[in-house]
Amino acid sequence: MAVQRWGVGSSSVFRVEELLGQLFETRRFFADYDAEIVESLREWAGPNHLSPEGNIISSIHSWLIEIDGKRVLVDGCVGDAKDRMPFRDWHEMRTSWLDNLHAAGCTPDEVDFVMCTHLHVDHVGWNTRLENGRWVPTFPNARYLFSTTEYEYWKGQRAEEHTAGFEVVGDKVFDDSVLPVVEAGLVDLVDGEHDILDGLHIEPAPGHTPGSITLELHTAGERALFTGDIMHHPIQIRLPDWNSAFCELPDEARATRRRVLEHCADTGALLMPAHFGWPHAGTIRREGDTFAVDYVEPNALS
Ligand SMILES: [Zn+2]
Repeated sequence: MAVQRWGVGSSSVFRVEELLGQLFETRRFFADYDAEIVESLREWAGPNHLSPEGNIISSIHSWLIEIDGKRVLVDGCVGDAKDRMPFRDWHEMRTSWLDNLHAAGCTPDEVDFVMCTHLHVDHVGWNTRLENGRWVPTFPNARYLFSTTEYEYWKGQRAEEHTAGFEVVGDKVFDDSVLPVVEAGLVDLVDGEHDILDGLHIEPAPGHTPGSITLELHTAGERALFTGDIMHHPIQIRLPDWNSAFCELPDEARATRRRVLEHCADTGALLMPAHFGWPHAGTIRREGDTFAVDYVEPNALS
């Protein structure tokens, strides 16, 4: 099933799937990759996170939060029909993401806020969709929330000459998935801490990208923390110093990851990252000077 639901306090959180599987090659994915260490953590990570060949199993999904009659979408995946060459796997995709959003009981018109943890290719795609050859906002009634730092960073990148794959894709992403919602007047830039609604709090979490932000849900005594790409895989809970190859500020990425894990361990917040395999979420506890995860399966969909 491509939609799951967790109850958090008086709210519901849905996972809206775009892709699930061996989406990345592990040796290229982690900046500090070591095959023996990865293999030694196979059992620790649980059965749904490493393939028999040692590739990480990843998900690309959005989180949809329903709280007090409002709907907040966290991250917009890769999106359909986008020119993403030279990323062949993500080029002109057609997935069932929109159907999955409907299965979560939500139409695009009903989304009140879209919050992007950062502006990488796999977090902003559904911000827009193709209509008569133009990129138009998928969620016309939503306010889109981006970090000011993040927006200015990618705007600066866009102004530079690029020839390498990741940077070329970054420019396309800015043009087809960020600028159209800015030009439609739907974007609110967020500086520092910000409350979207009562019980939904944005905080800066720099490192993976300069303007990465997290979103904390706090309702009826329960918490969940939406962490974007602060960590991509459960291995980084055990090894908080392991960065992905895509972390722009390595030292800050490590410090932020540890701070986020400490926060989850201290408060009991459910960690809801952007790319963990099944069951996609978990609580964190301290183990010596590192951390362990207790996965939390979704509740049955009613
Ligand atoms: Zn990502």
